Amino acid sequence: MVDLLRNYYNGQWQSAHSSQTFSVINPANEELLAKTPLCGEKEVDEAVQSAQGAFSAWKKIPASDRTQYLFRLKTELEDHFEDLSRTITIEHGKTLNESRGSVRRAIQMVETACSIPTLMMGENFEDIAKGIDCSTVNRPMGVFACIAPFNFPAMVPFWFWPFAVACGNTFIIKASERVPLTAIKIFELIDKVGFPPGVVNLVHGGKEAVNALCVHPLVKGVSFVGSTPVAKHVYQTACHQGKRVQALGGAKNVMVAMPDAMEKTMGQKSIATAFESITGCAGERCLAGSLVLCIGKETYESFKNGCVTLAKNLVVGSGLDPKTSMGPLISMEAKERVSGLIDRAIKQGAKALYDGREGLEKLKGYFLKPTILSNIKADMEIAQEEIFGPVVLLAEVESLQNAIDWINALPLANTTTIFTNNGAHARKFASEVDPSMIGVNIGVPAPMSFFSFGGSKESFFGDIKAHGKASVRFYTDTYTTIYRWHHEGSIW
Ligand code: NAD
Repeated sequence: MVDLLRNYYNGQWQSAHSSQTFSVINPANEELLAKTPLCGEKEVDEAVQSAQGAFSAWKKIPASDRTQYLFRLKTELEDHFEDLSRTITIEHGKTLNESRGSVRRAIQMVETACSIPTLMMGENFEDIAKGIDCSTVNRPMGVFACIAPFNFPAMVPFWFWPFAVACGNTFIIKASERVPLTAIKIFELIDKVGFPPGVVNLVHGGKEAVNALCVHPLVKGVSFVGSTPVAKHVYQTACHQGKRVQALGGAKNVMVAMPDAMEKTMGQKSIATAFESITGCAGERCLAGSLVLCIGKETYESFKNGCVTLAKNLVVGSGLDPKTSMGPLISMEAKERVSGLIDRAIKQGAKALYDGREGLEKLKGYFLKPTILSNIKADMEIAQEEIFGPVVLLAEVESLQNAIDWINALPLANTTTIFTNNGAHARKFASEVDPSMIGVNIGVPAPMSFFSFGGSKESFFGDIKAHGKASVRFYTDTYTTIYRWHHEGSIW
């Protein structure tokens, strides 16, 4: 008998009304772990009412007192660091080290949100006109929600809720139905910290819960992370209801290798960095590289040989095993989708230098080894679509300008990276590419919690990006007061 998971609102664990469920499966051994209730309008409304009820008192608590709850949560997260990492590995599949990295990122969000008293300060100016002063303050707005994807069960909700709550809003998290166990563990810690009931809430479910959040009249804004079609749907639906929306979508991240990056020891480092970017977390990262555009034949040959050697040596297996360097994909459906993309790419002329679909007979679970495909052309399906699996695409292009043109012709524009030690090339690249998260010799250019995060074009829908200073703009409204005082001898 597996657990049917519960929601958390009004400061208590709450059973779902819906009888529909989603099976949570350990992707490394296909074991049934739990059942996620697929909640709908009723549970969403109860959670929103709980958050709305908490808002008027929470917003009046001084910011420096609100952040004390986050300081305490930071300690709890540190104390439960290993348990949380292990839970992520069991329900998602990534290696323990990868899980640890993502929990560390979640904790960094809490640390940065603790500085909200400074981040949230407004502006003032004396004598905007003779004897008149002006000040602007940032005020919380009410109930906000986030809708999370499966690939980072701990980290992604933390991109949003600590900042929103520190600003004085109340919050609802809709975790991914595929990986709800990490959220349950985190809410056990939130419960222990003792936030006032209704300040932070959890609702499980899939699209019904998402749609209910997007149209609920008391929800002021929605932060979404997931695939581009759903990001667009959430953006359009919630905007139509007059809500603030930031919707982070899918990615097709291209890396460029300049010939100078192949010189001396930098060559092996560039290849290893690109390979890790593509295969880390089994390719299930929105910041994962996908395609390497190699400038010139020699660079291309070095990448082909180097990637095949790395693929052959990579150990695939359970993420709990310390010898494993890559875990499984999330589901059989995901594995079959990636396999189908590889099949069709080969039919369209790509060359399989290493086929990661072979030699997996002994492994139960949704495993793929890395696949290395060369001879990639810009118009191939696999060069356009997000793969979200461990597939290294290699293409030879003539010049940096050709590479920039290739990148900018793609509708998805999350991240991009250049491998070079030539400052002029790096500068041209950074100033001309469309993706808004850019790496120079960095495989995964993930902005830290104190910078803002988000892509552009079809990878991001909205105006204000996630975390860092941007979060205050998203989670507050500005109120401006203009002052004039009457006193003896004044000009008024
Ligand atoms: P997904 O779009 O399938 O699901 C995301 C969320 O939307 C889930 O909570 C899910 O319950 C809900 N949902 C799914 N279908 C829906 C529908 N039809 N209507 C309403 N809600 C729906 O994404 P996923 O498979 O969980 O995550 C992988 C995707 O997320 C990839 O495309 C990846 O690039 C993207 N991602 C992007 C970023 C980023 O920063 N841009 C970060 C992480 C993941």
